[in-house]
Amino acid sequence: MVFNAHRKTGRWELEALEMAMRAAMHRAGAAALTALLQFPAPAADLRNMPCACGHQAHYRELRSKPVLTAVGQAEASRPYYLCPDCHNGQFPADVELDIVHTEFSPAVRRMLALVGQEAPFDHGRQQIKLLADLEVTTKNVQRTAEAIGQDIAVGEQAEIQRAKQLDLPIVRGKPIPILCVEIDATGIPVVKKETVGRQGKDGHPARHRDVKVGCVFTQTTWGAEGYAIRDPDSTTYVAAIETAEEFGKRIYLEAWKRGWSRAAKKVVIGDGAEWIWNIADLQFPGAIQIVDLYHARQHLWDLARKLYLNQEAEQRRWMMVHQDMLDNGDVENLVVALRSIDSSNPELAEAIRTTANYFETNTSRMRYPEFRSQHLFVGSGVIEAACKTVIGSRCKQSGMFWTVHAANAILALRCCHFNGRFEDSWEARRA
Ligand SMILES: [Zn+2]
Repeated sequence: MVFNAHRKTGRWELEALEMAMRAAMHRAGAAALTALLQFPAPAADLRNMPCACGHQAHYRELRSKPVLTAVGQAEASRPYYLCPDCHNGQFPADVELDIVHTEFSPAVRRMLALVGQEAPFDHGRQQIKLLADLEVTTKNVQRTAEAIGQDIAVGEQAEIQRAKQLDLPIVRGKPIPILCVEIDATGIPVVKKETVGRQGKDGHPARHRDVKVGCVFTQTTWGAEGYAIRDPDSTTYVAAIETAEEFGKRIYLEAWKRGWSRAAKKVVIGDGAEWIWNIADLQFPGAIQIVDLYHARQHLWDLARKLYLNQEAEQRRWMMVHQDMLDNGDVENLVVALRSIDSSNPELAEAIRTTANYFETNTSRMRYPEFRSQHLFVGSGVIEAACKTVIGSRCKQSGMFWTVHAANAILALRCCHFNGRFEDSWEARRA
């Protein structure tokens, strides 16, 4: 057909030609694969095999099923065994081919996992059509990506259990001058049933669930002016919707994998949220704790706006004095200054008290000049960027509503991919 068009117009439509050629190659490849996937009936002495129930399953017949492969739709025909005691059937060839309970070949599942963690599932479906010339549905992308993510999540839980029993292999390697853990949380939109009984913000019903996010990176050198520099490609991520207790174990395991035990200097950075510092105390005792400077400044700004309603010049003047105290790590005096502010307005008095308490609680986490002299980061920019790139860009698109289960599966898959561990985890699954 393409050749006819060429004869008529005298012009090569290369794109049409190459696509038609690929389709033809796929059809030939799928036919060849189908021929390869015709398993013979077992020999007479191989017609029984053990069943999980303890009895014997017997060969019944050859059964075929469609398998979508990297070269298109093929078909496998393989022996079927049935156990007369428990009535469970099995296809040993499916185990060998890695197509148990699925009509997608391993190569196609890997592709679906890749596009499914990257972008909305329908976008993935379109990419698969264009790039691989394979017809799948949006649901196919979703189910496959979620199933593979779920496998990864289950594997991680097993690792976390081993970590709890202090049964982790020692991670050997070069000494690490500075290992840094940053922790934060970001909300993603969820389906209604995931927020039943949960309090939303400002009296509105909850529409979001918090994803707890952590990252781990190393530092070896610093910039000309002494500023902290992150080692290139040294950042790995964890993320899940779960309790702080569960997340504490997850981030501990990640830090352990990255060489926490042999780091010369250990740092935890977060905003002022109490759960973060509980994790730091429990999982990373002895680490230097740093409250993100920009969050701390924000607390001062919030108070400045309440002290001087709509008086921007006054707000700025007040900030200059108090932000200097903060930036200089002079937090004790900052707390004294805050506590000395008088207000007859009970709401304002409460805001002053809360702010003073925040700085008092976090005093030792705000020694910014000291941190800077050690070339440590004083901001949580790395984790905030991670909240956007790892979580936001995938999970916060408009019209997207997640179940906790699905979100956690996709987040496990996505972090695994970001951390450069997907290939290993895929190979390990086969072994
Ligand atoms: Zn059985």
